Amino acid sequence: MAGSGTAEPWARRADEVAAALGTDLRRGLSATAATTALAEHGPNELPDADRASPLRILLGQVGSPMILLLAGAGVLSAVLGDLTEAVVILVVVVLNGWIGFSQEYRAERAMASLRALAAPTVRAVRDGAPADVPARELVPGDLVLLEAGSLVPADGRLVEAHALRIEESPLTGESVPVDKGTGPVERSAPLAERTSMAHSGTSVAAGRGALLVTATGVGTEIGRVARLLGDAEGVRTPLQRRLDVLVRGLAAAAGVIVLVVFGLGLARDEELETLLLTAVSLAVAAIPESLPAVVTVTLALGAQRMLDRQALVRRLYAVETLGSVTTICSDKTGTLTQNRMTITVLDMAGDRRELDRDGADEGIDHLLGNPTLCLLVAGGALCNDTTVADDGSLLGDPTETALVDVAGRYGMDARALVASLPRVAELPFDSERKRMTTVHRLAADPGDAAPAVRAVREQLRALAGDRGLVSVTKGAVDGLLARCDTVSIGEAVVPLDDDGRARARAAADELAAQGVRVLGVAVRPWPDPDGVPGDERLERALTLVGFEGMIDPARPEVRDAIAVCRRAGVRVIMITGDHPLTATSIGRDLGLAGDGDRAVTGAELDGMDDVALERTVREASIYARVAPEHKIRLVEVLQRGRGVVAMTGDGVNDAPALKQADIGVAMGVTGTDVTKDAADMVLRDDNFATIVAAVHEGRVVFDNIRKFVRNILSGNLAEVSIMVLAPLAGMPIPLLPLQILWLNLVTDGLPAMALAVEPPEPDVMRRPPTPRDESLLGADRGRRIATRGAALTVLTFLPAYGLWEAGDDAWQTVLFTSIAAAELAGGFAMRSERVSLARLGLASNRAMLAAVAATAALQVLVVSVPFARDLLGLRPLHPAHWLLVAGIALAYLVVVESDKAWQRRAAATAGR
Ligand code: ADP
Ligand code: MG
Repeated sequence: MAGSGTAEPWARRADEVAAALGTDLRRGLSATAATTALAEHGPNELPDADRASPLRILLGQVGSPMILLLAGAGVLSAVLGDLTEAVVILVVVVLNGWIGFSQEYRAERAMASLRALAAPTVRAVRDGAPADVPARELVPGDLVLLEAGSLVPADGRLVEAHALRIEESPLTGESVPVDKGTGPVERSAPLAERTSMAHSGTSVAAGRGALLVTATGVGTEIGRVARLLGDAEGVRTPLQRRLDVLVRGLAAAAGVIVLVVFGLGLARDEELETLLLTAVSLAVAAIPESLPAVVTVTLALGAQRMLDRQALVRRLYAVETLGSVTTICSDKTGTLTQNRMTITVLDMAGDRRELDRDGADEGIDHLLGNPTLCLLVAGGALCNDTTVADDGSLLGDPTETALVDVAGRYGMDARALVASLPRVAELPFDSERKRMTTVHRLAADPGDAAPAVRAVREQLRALAGDRGLVSVTKGAVDGLLARCDTVSIGEAVVPLDDDGRARARAAADELAAQGVRVLGVAVRPWPDPDGVPGDERLERALTLVGFEGMIDPARPEVRDAIAVCRRAGVRVIMITGDHPLTATSIGRDLGLAGDGDRAVTGAELDGMDDVALERTVREASIYARVAPEHKIRLVEVLQRGRGVVAMTGDGVNDAPALKQADIGVAMGVTGTDVTKDAADMVLRDDNFATIVAAVHEGRVVFDNIRKFVRNILSGNLAEVSIMVLAPLAGMPIPLLPLQILWLNLVTDGLPAMALAVEPPEPDVMRRPPTPRDESLLGADRGRRIATRGAALTVLTFLPAYGLWEAGDDAWQTVLFTSIAAAELAGGFAMRSERVSLARLGLASNRAMLAAVAATAALQVLVVSVPFARDLLGLRPLHPAHWLLVAGIALAYLVVVESDKAWQRRAAATAGR
């Protein structure tokens, strides 16, 4: 790929590299050249390492206690001489392993494709215009625009750099961001010192720049390192890990029971063969074979439903964690509000103009007669990164497009303005400083400029002279005022004393209290162009011009979403960089704060120790003028105790807070690559209400998993009890290993899958979150499982015992079939833990109807078809037997429903 012209690009001049790559530094590549190059170089991606390899999943499956136990059972059957049974068990082992593997693999693939949905696009210049290009389609020669928060998508030579700092730790291990420039460096410079280059895998910490791509995909430094940065956390969620623990516990319990039964049997001189068979059956009975696969499927289905509601889950564990969220910390701008800013007021030293929201023209005459107004409107549009498209539409940060828009209303075309006063230097915006500065020079007189633009030119010339430069600073009023020592009033510039500052601050506060976001604009002439500093000294001794106030309406659906959170016991906290009064006003509007509540500021947080902070956090729900590092402290405090915190973020500096939170939430539309990369969930619509929808889905998933865990474990408990009771009652082995496998895989599995799609409980968002550390079995620590398991045991064992005593040789088949039937009935009843089946209605979960019908049909088949019957060691059943089975199932249904009714009554009494 690299011709001699592009070898060691860091040591060459940017234009040389561009020439060698055939790229025009203004126009970028043409679309056709890019297509050709893509065919030649291949896509810009590394071999996928973000995915758990099939092999790893397979090994995880093979090593699972369940498979090992089943395999042991198979071997034991073979030793006992029952070859058919051994073979069938082995087939089941393989099948079960395969199902587990394929479900987990499919879930993992689904997650990978969800992640791909969040794959970064980059802004590349092609055919002379910036365009959004998928990062994988970049080719050498492409010109890519970088800004704070971008992931650098490929290796390249920097051709533009403004205060550009790049975080290179993934590549060099250097944790402090490196200053970048465009000048060539030594040919022999090591990777970490090639300041004229930016590399794939690193990210932009601050500033802005343009990158001429020199290498893509495996040609990049990181591709060469090929130390594939796999997702080391693997694919198992905490829930799945807890399930593993549960299964291991059950296996251990089974082991103990087996030993006891074995010992008792030996003491009573039972046949060894019978004892071994009992041992195998018991072990198989104790393990919920279908559970792991069903849980995985349920989580993956949950992720899909969240996606349908615009919440893209990047890691599977988020699906279950979302259900336990106790606090949601949300940005204001764009998440709680629409991020559709409109300037509604201009304020210059008390001279206030309210603008009609729909932009009725204040008129150019006002402007020409008022130099300060002229400077204010122009300053807002000059110190601005908005791009004006050919059709006049404005692309960029809504705060900034609003400023360009208002300039347009005053007859100032932004493109003409910038052409006449080109930017020569800048200090980009960052959310710590909360302001930005640009430096402009007077271009040659275009002659035909609009009167408003001419007026601005004249003013700036009067300030700085023909050769001089002018800097424009805009940003948060509080910080800006401290940096102004004069103020522009009409045609005069007068000193700004503390009194003046206080008055100006009061004017801005008054606006903020009405929910208006206020930005200050200040200027400074630099008559000597060589004396302009390149750092924050640019922002000293400024002349205050005035304030621009804008309104950002709340998103209409957010108010309801916040009310839902309140009922659901989920706290909502607003965290914003905006002014405390603006924040409080909007917070009140949304129902987040009451009349007496006020915002806590970042500065106040700085002054608090941990104890004070904890106390504050218990009360206050609005945090304003907050910098990203405050977010981490807030998350940490909220997490103490049993808090599970979801935190949103959009800017670069938010990534650490997102990682610290239990659920990091990134903005899909306005979020930076770096935050999306750090997030567990991406909001495709940036909407707060979407987080609440995801919490809702998370709760439903968790509820449903609990329901089938209860149903399945009640069945396992009954099987084990029966296996232990029978010998004590002097009966032969009641259930054979294959029969138990059938019960655990077929009879349990299908209805459990149907429970996974059970519609939400009516109170799903009207009860407090489930504590994260609460047992998988539920708050009652298995009481329900115990009672239901006991009921199932009694209801199925006693009739079988009666039949056995009466000498009916179908007693075992009746036992087997009645357990299956009762579990199906139980599956129906357990669709809700609270609502009675009568109120749920049979048809409200069609999947359940289908699953139960299918399972019942299979059960009838396996008892009636001679071949299957023999394989499972069953006997034919008479109609009277079937009637008995149906009766048992019905009785179990009644028991579970009564238990539910009793629970309801208990809950109602407790509630009073
Ligand atoms: P939010 O949390 O509401 O998104 P930001 O961190 O984006 O707040 O902004 C914080 C403050 O920084 C704003 O109140 C405003 O005063 C200032 N600000 C925001 N955007 C810009 C910008 N593009 N240029 C200058 N100042 C800005
Ligand atoms: Mg913001």
